[in-house]
Amino acid sequence: MPGFVEHTTANGIVLIGTTAAMWYFGWSVGDIIAVDAGIAISSLILSPDMDLFTSKSMEDWGILKVFWWPYAKIVKHRDRLHTPILGTSVRWLYTMAILSIAVVPFALLVRNLGFHLTFAGETGDVVYYLLYLLDVFIGANIADATHFVLDMATTGFKEGLGHHHHREYFPLASEHRLEYEREHHREYEREHYHEPER
Ligand SMILES: [Zn+2]
Repeated sequence: MPGFVEHTTANGIVLIGTTAAMWYFGWSVGDIIAVDAGIAISSLILSPDMDLFTSKSMEDWGILKVFWWPYAKIVKHRDRLHTPILGTSVRWLYTMAILSIAVVPFALLVRNLGFHLTFAGETGDVVYYLLYLLDVFIGANIADATHFVLDMATTGFKEGLGHHHHREYFPLASEHRLEYEREHHREYEREHYHEPER
């Protein structure tokens, strides 16, 4: 299973390649930086391995990793949220939820002190910054796609998502079924081969 070093190396190579491609296609420096930031963020602090409480990505959060304990607890390691698009979106929403938990009390405190936080920008400005945010999100997906491909490539596609997680999800159920099938088979043998008809 590829670890942090392999993933970071692969994502670093992809970052260089993506930067070169964007430059070639005439993207603005601002856009390139935003996409690269997305790749870096997803490689270093929001990687798909956040579903594993003992991963290096998790360790890097230090004491703040307590915020990720529920996520790692609920999401099975290398399950369907180990993917780009879906997994990336969920991790981003989760991060925003954490941030709002951290920021809202602070904002309320500031307001109680008599300050008023207002957004003074024009609508045009908002769209302008949202487009950069979209760049960052694209970069994050590129990083997570690279992570996913490397995970899948090294474990083999057959051992991939499909039945791999089935076994993890229902270990008891499948053992139960196996026992049931064995018993059924024994009964069948007894009836048809060993005991003579009377
Ligand atoms: Zn992984």
